[in-house]
Amino acid sequence: MKIFPGTRWGLLRRIGTQETYNKAGPSFAFTDSFRHMGWRCAVDGVMVHTSGLQLHWVGQSMPYIKRLLTMAWSMHVSDKVQYREGYDIGCFDFHPVLRGIRKQPVGRQTRLQSLATGKHVTHDKLCNFVAEIKSGLCPLCGMPDSKMHRVFTCSDSAGLRIKRKALIRWLQRQPSAVWNYGVFEANIQLMLWKIENSPSLSSVHLPLRSSRLTVFTDGSCFFPEFHQTALAGCAAIAVDDWKYNILVQTMMPTPDHTPFRAEVAAILLTLQETWSVDFDVACQAAVDNLSKLLIARAEGWSCPVLEHADLWGMIWCHLLRRPQECITVTKVKAHVHPESLDDSNQKWCAFMNNVVDDLAQQL
Ligand SMILES: [Zn+2]
Repeated sequence: MKIFPGTRWGLLRRIGTQETYNKAGPSFAFTDSFRHMGWRCAVDGVMVHTSGLQLHWVGQSMPYIKRLLTMAWSMHVSDKVQYREGYDIGCFDFHPVLRGIRKQPVGRQTRLQSLATGKHVTHDKLCNFVAEIKSGLCPLCGMPDSKMHRVFTCSDSAGLRIKRKALIRWLQRQPSAVWNYGVFEANIQLMLWKIENSPSLSSVHLPLRSSRLTVFTDGSCFFPEFHQTALAGCAAIAVDDWKYNILVQTMMPTPDHTPFRAEVAAILLTLQETWSVDFDVACQAAVDNLSKLLIARAEGWSCPVLEHADLWGMIWCHLLRRPQECITVTKVKAHVHPESLDDSNQKWCAFMNNVVDDLAQQL
């Protein structure tokens, strides 16, 4: 659709009205494949999963789409392996498992992979299938064998349990899939909460023409290392000497919360409110991308292809609809203590950047 944008609406209409067209062709193959995985294709690129997860496969960022498809896939796989003994979770998060495995020596990697895929079998099961194994007793201590025995009661691993007391206490509180397979439960409730409660992006609306403003923007994200828990806010202040006025202070629009998106959203929400702006932005990547758009706008080129097109596309619409000299952007230093600086202008920049950073963190 990027290469042939004229086909977009026809394709989305055919996918969104799947009941009415022929049961053949790429549109049907698309909807049918996702239907088998629990996804319903609605109108205009929206897809809804049976769990409540939702995504917009045309407008939202590729990392976010991949994250949600991965979560839905984990739920599908979990559903298919519920019959396995000791598997009692509805969705697993494979990222910590992969990270943990990669850090280990090669031999141990193989053993951990066997554990995670359910190929690690103790003697209580092996004795039913392997002629050489005569009893279901633990070969290490002679007690009845099981995965639970190996982790919590086997005398052979007693030293390890003493050494890792806190870990064992934590394991005792976890679903049995954690100590049976070494996989962790993924919590989709927080993602569902963000889908339900994140502000939506309104359509592009031009503000009234007004005098030129100097604006500091910032985005801040708590727990950014885990996509389920990441929670972002954005803020913008119009500054006049040492005084400031809050233009934007909100939770990140859209459920796709990342530090970078919060920075971009702060710029976009400012453009929804103000006509002529000199931006002071601490995030280098946001400055670089906005500069690319400003150059493309000035040269009369088409919009550069950027990740997070839902946000940058709206910013591009704003740039097109006002004279090019209306918007400038400058990179400012992030998280600098004003007292550590000698130059009065740098002191002022650091102070204002810290103010907008605090506001973004208050969501
Ligand atoms: Zn034992």
